[in-house]
Amino acid sequence: MTGLAGRCLCGAVRWVSDGVVTRRLACHCADCQRATSAPFTAFVGLPPETVTWSGEIAHFESSPGTHRGFCSACGTRLYFRSSRWPGEIHIHAATLEDGSGYAPDCHVVTSDSPAWLHLDDGLPSHSGFHTDPARG
Ligand SMILES: [Zn+2]
Ligand SMILES: [Zn+2]
Repeated sequence: MTGLAGRCLCGAVRWVSDGVVTRRLACHCADCQRATSAPFTAFVGLPPETVTWSGEIAHFESSPGTHRGFCSACGTRLYFRSSRWPGEIHIHAATLEDGSGYAPDCHVVTSDSPAWLHLDDGLPSHSGFHTDPARG
């Protein structure tokens, strides 16, 4: 996947990237659940220098060194960036203008999944993070 673009719900924030996708995952961690008001969220990872943003983005530091960006007008969650993954920005895949070419390739931090959630998509499922964040 290259040549990606996305936007928030109201359209005030837009992004484009010509970068090569570094990661596609569905995160079930408790922080992502609370931040998105959803049982889990799908991310598309990209090299941050390949992403161009427009519009006003507000940030919340959900843990030291970890920032979650959102549209200051409509509140749509835009991305997760952490000093633990310095070489990539994790953009919420739901913001993709055309998400038809996207699918996560694994589920992570499923130890935090709600008990009622049962997935049978056949994807690898990891109770924690599936790779050492430092090595990406
Ligand atoms: Zn917006
Ligand atoms: Zn998470």
